[in-house]
Amino acid sequence: MKLLIQNGTIVDPAGGISGQKDLLLDNGVITMIGDHLSDTTAQVIDAAGLHVSAGLIDMHVHLRDPGLTHKEDILTGSEAAAHGGFTTIACMPNTKPVMDNPDTVAYVKKRAQHNCGVHVLPIGAVSIGERGEQRTNFKDLKAAGVVALSDDGMPIMNANLMRDALLRGNRRGLTVLSHCEDDTMVHGRGVNEGRVSRALGMPGRPAIAEELMVMRDAMLAEETRTAVHICHVSTAGSVNIIRQFKRKGVRITCETCPQYFILTHEEILRQGTMAKVNPPLRATKDRDAILAAVKDGTIDCLVTDHAPHSAEEKALPLVAAPAGMVGLETALALNLTYLYHAGVLPLEEVIAKMTLRPAEVLGLGGSVGMLALGAPADVTIFDVNEEWTVDPSDFRSKGRNTPFAGMQVKGRVRYTIADGKIIYKA
Ligand SMILES: [Zn+2]
Repeated sequence: MKLLIQNGTIVDPAGGISGQKDLLLDNGVITMIGDHLSDTTAQVIDAAGLHVSAGLIDMHVHLRDPGLTHKEDILTGSEAAAHGGFTTIACMPNTKPVMDNPDTVAYVKKRAQHNCGVHVLPIGAVSIGERGEQRTNFKDLKAAGVVALSDDGMPIMNANLMRDALLRGNRRGLTVLSHCEDDTMVHGRGVNEGRVSRALGMPGRPAIAEELMVMRDAMLAEETRTAVHICHVSTAGSVNIIRQFKRKGVRITCETCPQYFILTHEEILRQGTMAKVNPPLRATKDRDAILAAVKDGTIDCLVTDHAPHSAEEKALPLVAAPAGMVGLETALALNLTYLYHAGVLPLEEVIAKMTLRPAEVLGLGGSVGMLALGAPADVTIFDVNEEWTVDPSDFRSKGRNTPFAGMQVKGRVRYTIADGKIIYKA
């Protein structure tokens, strides 16, 4: 099937094309890019007044499948991704069982073949059961199709295991995505250590617990000359460390999520468990530092850390409720509202952090994340100016746990196209 996208404004951070152009998608690839294209056999989308980018990529998603499908499953998570403009998502291995073996990877890939068309890329666990003790078999995981390695959700406390994982992962072209928190300083603690934790009379998760691990991983990457990627960076100290090591030429990349440059820990006082996430929402100085690091390029990627939980789970008391928030269906709008419309970043840079950069970190190759001739026909079409109000009852995700409910945002997905097929249309 052919699809002709006419009159859209191209957003191509790779720099090849700009302005108003038509795109012809045929047989799963972009076959023509030009002015006034026509093809009588193609289905036509009139994208006048809309922006057209490569399909969005979210490299940090929890699909909860297998084993935790009351929260989300591969089909609903994929629907949520398509609804949010994502054509590719990488899913974390903290499922039940943990994705630490080729069979579980095969299960995820097989289920994903029956989804709406979103590309689902499995991430393999670094350690068996994410217990941080025994390394998984990277060779077998790679052969099964994982695109990266992570024990996300759990920090890798054993520095020797982390060092070994960097070396062996690097050899196989697998980047380690590190969840940086010193477990001994955060265990059983629900909120950031500071004014809010004191007001609640609770022990908090201190910023230093994240920063110590960021420093350790940066030093290990430097020493081993391997690449490391730091997940969901949330503190001023973390971005300072990453900035310094990048300047030295160390292969360190990182990501953040909208909640870390929009919200602070004060949100816990207003929204309780809806604002509980790991790492926790931080102080104003941290939020401002994350925003500055998004702006100056220290933060490479914008991800969601989409972490669905059931209403029953989030109704538990603050200490007992699970941490996490959904993000797939609000990320583009939040990033456009708080980065592009707020004048922090040009549109190309926002889109680069949601397409090109994650494709680079994961080493996807094959022009994934770009609008180029021969690139996969994965395209997102959005209205950069449409205003709407976040309403979790519209989500395709099983999870409704968002602190952004009721928020006015600007920027909305109109079409999500994967492999040349329309998988979501507003
Ligand atoms: Zn994490």
